[in-house]
Amino acid sequence: MKDRIYLVSPQFVEEKVRKIFDLPGDIGFTSRLGLVTGLREQELLYIKEKPVCSDGHGCDCEKLHLVSCKNGMTIIAIGWTRGNKKALATILPTKYWDKLRALPKFDYYDIAAAHKIMKRDVGIGYATMRKIHYNVMRFRDTLALDEAEVLAGRYKSVSGRYYVLHDPQKLTDKYITAWSNFGIDIPHITAV
Ligand SMILES: [Zn+2]
Repeated sequence: MKDRIYLVSPQFVEEKVRKIFDLPGDIGFTSRLGLVTGLREQELLYIKEKPVCSDGHGCDCEKLHLVSCKNGMTIIAIGWTRGNKKALATILPTKYWDKLRALPKFDYYDIAAAHKIMKRDVGIGYATMRKIHYNVMRFRDTLALDEAEVLAGRYKSVSGRYYVLHDPQKLTDKYITAWSNFGIDIPHITAV
């Protein structure tokens, strides 16, 4: 199993997830953005500012391509590469996406502030949330290995984002199930 080294105990994941959803205010929102997307800090800053393409998701331009699903989730094809790091796609609640894009300011200082509070109150740093996210997606095989690898930016094929966007509704439904395994009712989440 390719993903074995990334997996940690469900109890650890559950405890951290609960604490992150309990964090108040702007710090809480900034922290949860990292948790629900599984993106790296610089990838979050990238999707905050990058223009959204108005063409369909078959388009191959460098803008963001997104689909807002009826279940309250938005799936975004990213296609961002920096060195050997890739961001292919992410999923997040549509209200998180709307809030992120409407924020007048969101930069490294916000993430650094969240990182500091998380170290103190959750016991992990910001970057560890990528691993937590992966574990949530893979728990009980809710997302298939390939699907989780695409969201983690580790899928080998550059066309990975088309693979993910092939059936947005189905994949976002799985994403909702993945969070419900850890007690998070993500379509009705009030902590934004
Ligand atoms: Zn486009």
